[in-house]
Amino acid sequence: METEISLAALPVGCSGIITRTEADQAEQNRLAQLGILPGTEITCRLRGAGGSPVAFTVRGVTLALRAEQCKQIILRQTESAEPEPVRRTYLLVGNPNVGKSTVFNALTGMKQHTGNWCGKTVAGAEGSFSHHGIPIRLIDTPGTYSVYSETAEEAAAGEIIRNTPHDCIICVCDATCLERGLRLILELLTIRQKTVLCLNLTDEAEKKGIRLKPELLSEKLRIPVIGITARKKQTLQPLLDAAEIQAESSASEQKLPEKTLSEIIAQASALYRECVSVPPHPHRRTEQADRILTGKRMRIPVMMMLLLLTFWITLVGANYPSSLLSALFSGLCRNLMRLSQENGVPAWLSGAVIDGMLRGTGWVISVMLPPMAIFFPLFTLLEDVGLLPRLAFNMDSCCAKCKACGKQALTMTMGFGCNAVGVTGCRIIESKRERLIAILTNALVPCNGRFPTLLAIITVFFAGEGAGGSVRAACMMTALILLSVFVTFAASAALGKTVLRGEASSFVLELPPFRRPQIRQILIRSVLDRTVFVLCRAVMTAAPVSLLIWIFANVQAGGQSIVVHLSDFLAPAGNLIGLDGVILLAFILGLPANEIVLPVAVTAYLGSTTLTDYGSLSSLHTLLVSHGWTQGTAACFLLFTLFHSPCATTLLTVFRETRSKRWTFAAFLLPVSVGLILCLSVSGILHFFS
Ligand code: GDP
Repeated sequence: METEISLAALPVGCSGIITRTEADQAEQNRLAQLGILPGTEITCRLRGAGGSPVAFTVRGVTLALRAEQCKQIILRQTESAEPEPVRRTYLLVGNPNVGKSTVFNALTGMKQHTGNWCGKTVAGAEGSFSHHGIPIRLIDTPGTYSVYSETAEEAAAGEIIRNTPHDCIICVCDATCLERGLRLILELLTIRQKTVLCLNLTDEAEKKGIRLKPELLSEKLRIPVIGITARKKQTLQPLLDAAEIQAESSASEQKLPEKTLSEIIAQASALYRECVSVPPHPHRRTEQADRILTGKRMRIPVMMMLLLLTFWITLVGANYPSSLLSALFSGLCRNLMRLSQENGVPAWLSGAVIDGMLRGTGWVISVMLPPMAIFFPLFTLLEDVGLLPRLAFNMDSCCAKCKACGKQALTMTMGFGCNAVGVTGCRIIESKRERLIAILTNALVPCNGRFPTLLAIITVFFAGEGAGGSVRAACMMTALILLSVFVTFAASAALGKTVLRGEASSFVLELPPFRRPQIRQILIRSVLDRTVFVLCRAVMTAAPVSLLIWIFANVQAGGQSIVVHLSDFLAPAGNLIGLDGVILLAFILGLPANEIVLPVAVTAYLGSTTLTDYGSLSSLHTLLVSHGWTQGTAACFLLFTLFHSPCATTLLTVFRETRSKRWTFAAFLLPVSVGLILCLSVSGILHFFS
């Protein structure tokens, strides 16, 4: 049967014939120009969030109009589409660090960042799965203490709850400290009734002797209350069944009447007293560990020891696989070179591909992969246990003196992984002024892309190889990290007392209980998400840049290669800061990814010559020394590696976060200036004494 409807109501995939347009004359003319005329067939293709805009095909062209405009276009429907499959949307809501991302990952099979500290989820995530054959869209919201909260990431949660149409809210709470979760659920129930209360971490609650009465809680709140252990996927079934019942229920919604904050607090604590019984010292072990890690006397030595140990394990563990990989790649290059010579492949082609691209890529893999594959799991382990917030706690007094926020210690630690992630993480800082300070100074700590380069140069120029060498290298690496932390604080203080003047805001940080780490998850996350991701990025940048630099080294202009021309041009500036033209060129070409600076310099030094075991550290030493490197050059190189331009991705992220070209430029200028000043000073002092 043919029915008359507006284009706004035409289901996706259905077609109709335009009968008339109900717009004013000017609008009718405009629509006619687009081909929207009576008698024309029109097919609805897509609908945006909330039903607008509507995309449709008319006369072979796909256009989109707002739903309001579409209401003016009246059609006779000709084709009916298959009924759209039922699709439900569930929202995961909860306080920070209660296991929302763990639930999300278990259900969707995705790999949202989980970790034992508050504030890591700063943007919502979306995934899907099906339950009883019904497709379900699951949205993980950033952790929030209140739906009315005004801080950036918490407000995002409130906005998603209010503006995203959904069928059920799953409110995740920490069963070991339920009272705060109860405040949130009471607030939620004043907005929505289709809610399930999910008591997570029941395994920890049980260990601590905390007893919960979910049935009583369910009776009082008049919603399903389900206990789960998110780390055990099989415990999630009852939760999904409860959410399904809530989503399907057609009972009219009985929202709780609005209450003031003090009423909600009083009601939550009354509920808590009735439904939860807690033994005298439920968090004794965490308190004992905290006395050591955050105690006045022990905190600095313990943190230093942990840092040292992490680097030492990384160095010792990486040596052997690094040389193995390097031997593998040199053998591969040698054999490929021989094969191409035997088969008459032109020398320029084999040179460009094998000596240029493959050699650079081989370098990146053999020098970067082993330390990353060890460092990342160690770092993730510390994160999963709950050490990062302790680090922030210990560093807060420094931050306060610099008029910065204590949470900057967290974003700094994220920066050690990746500066772009650190910059995004700055959203956990509420005050705009302090957030900017944290963003601008984030690249002053070395990201993982710079770690292998630092380790390689420290080993070949200062520490030497072998067991004693590893200890010396770990100590030097720790010293460099401390220097970068010191410079970060100094720069924060300078910014906080000049362009970004203001008082340090109050500091709220949660110290979560220490948790047993999930080794399997840590390995998967650190190896797949971090190591492979960083390595792929490095290889994808290293391959074309190595090829480019090989071409520069082999194409002659005016009797000299382009590399020589470029490095001669940059030499005066390079020499001034204790480096040379080639290194400066490598830093410039390394803008897309910091990890390729050293391989690019090596390829440029090698020029048209071929080195057989290019990846081994002793041959690196020989090569660099033959190009005039001294310990002074190496020291300046280390400093400039620590402090130079953030990579292109980080700069883009700064722009995305600040929406300001001026601040993005400042984020570039700050580390470069620090690097230039330090290198100038060191090379000046060395010149003076030589
Ligand atoms: P979110 O901030 O709410 O997304 O919390 P996460 O999913 O990142 O989890 C916070 C911490 O709690 C992580 O270290 C998780 O491994 C841990 N965790 C989550 N669920 C459970 C659980 O059921 N049992 C235990 N023991 N730990 C859990």
